Amino acid sequence: MTVTVRFAPSPTGHIHIGNSRTALFNWLFAKKNGGSFVLRFDDTDKERSKAEFADATELDLAWLGIQPDRVERQSDRVAAYDAAAEKLKAEGLLYPCYETADELERRRSRARALGRPPVYDRAALKLSADEKAAFEAEGRKVHWRFLLPNHDGDPFAPRRTEVTWTDLCRGEQSVDLASLSDPVLIREDGTYLYTLPSIVDDIDMGITHVIRGEDHVANTGVQYAIFKALGAEMPTFGHHNLLTTRDGEGLSKRKGALSIGSLREAGLEPMAVASLAVLTGTSQAVEPVPNLEVLADKFDLSSVSRSAAKFDPADLDGLNAKLVHDMPYEVVEDRLRSLGIRASETFWLLIRENCEKVSDAQHYWQIVYGSVDSKVEEEDREFVAKARDFLPEGDITEETWGTWTSALKAETGRKGRGLFMPLRRALTGLDHGPDMKALLPLIGRQNILDRLPG
Ligand code: GLU
Repeated sequence: MTVTVRFAPSPTGHIHIGNSRTALFNWLFAKKNGGSFVLRFDDTDKERSKAEFADATELDLAWLGIQPDRVERQSDRVAAYDAAAEKLKAEGLLYPCYETADELERRRSRARALGRPPVYDRAALKLSADEKAAFEAEGRKVHWRFLLPNHDGDPFAPRRTEVTWTDLCRGEQSVDLASLSDPVLIREDGTYLYTLPSIVDDIDMGITHVIRGEDHVANTGVQYAIFKALGAEMPTFGHHNLLTTRDGEGLSKRKGALSIGSLREAGLEPMAVASLAVLTGTSQAVEPVPNLEVLADKFDLSSVSRSAAKFDPADLDGLNAKLVHDMPYEVVEDRLRSLGIRASETFWLLIRENCEKVSDAQHYWQIVYGSVDSKVEEEDREFVAKARDFLPEGDITEETWGTWTSALKAETGRKGRGLFMPLRRALTGLDHGPDMKALLPLIGRQNILDRLPG
């Protein structure tokens, strides 16, 4: 069977670097296994889901290099969920409940006070037809729960029922279905919670592997039971640890922190984000990886650690700089052009090690070809004027710097910093920067002369 994975965000905000970890894990897994990748928007929550967030998510994924083979929206598939719900109702596995949120909360508090787990007691299963009709007459709205298969025929006598699976990230896992409340699948307003639609989609879309955050481990127990009730095999699951900041704080779509869009706007490379998002919290070193193919080769779900994947957002800058320092010209050529730079390969190779971001190239472009605020200290004025006179004749080549500074050294007795620094400052306006020997031919004779006050 072709490996098929899905990334299933709810479009209720902009995706952040933690979401991108899940997306990339799925994408790299698909790449490694010649599989396909479905982008599925879990947009059953009509109030909070917004088309603009879905569009932004597609854009963010494309920036990271993820091109889904298929895009689906749960809001288009309600008929399929209705059919599944009807099947479960017909089998008595989806049952109507009338408790209000307040009543449920009171029961949970009581259970906790008695030292019992706050698990739903299935009271609604005891309701007679008359009692249900009375509730409805009272104006109460029905919600629907799935009856977990954690009993031997008497739902009021649940017994330990372990669901076990071999998790791609966490190894052997088990969830005791008796420790869980029957999950609500349909809300009072008739809309679906994510649980059932997700399973119906996973079945209909032929999902073979579900790779998602470890906050869904308990859900997997519940979903296993629903897969079975719908007559389907459960896919293989992998639950990865979640990215958190150094102090252990989780990321939230709602807070908008570290959104992919904001990282892009800050001028970071997608591969700096991807390297950090994928390699943090694994047994592998977090290092800059130049492209997704190389990252796919390194990527290994079994290297994901069991503890939280803590990271420092500041590490992105270091990873970014390292990527830029090694970035080949052909990778950056179009981007330089879109920054208004008609650069040559020679220019890029000369300046890249001085750039932390690709956009820093603009600064060096200005220094080479534009106008420069020459810096000349009072005590260097005479020296700089002399340098103007000593500039070798003929083409400015890589030899020029050596010939020029040797002649100036012989003439003035200056050496080292005192010889080189005034020239660098006058010609570039900077105290440090790319190698002067290589820079000189690019700056060209006219600019050199213009920048050396005579
Ligand atoms: N919409 C769910 C979430 O964002 C998807 C979970 C899953 O992958 O099954 O958490």
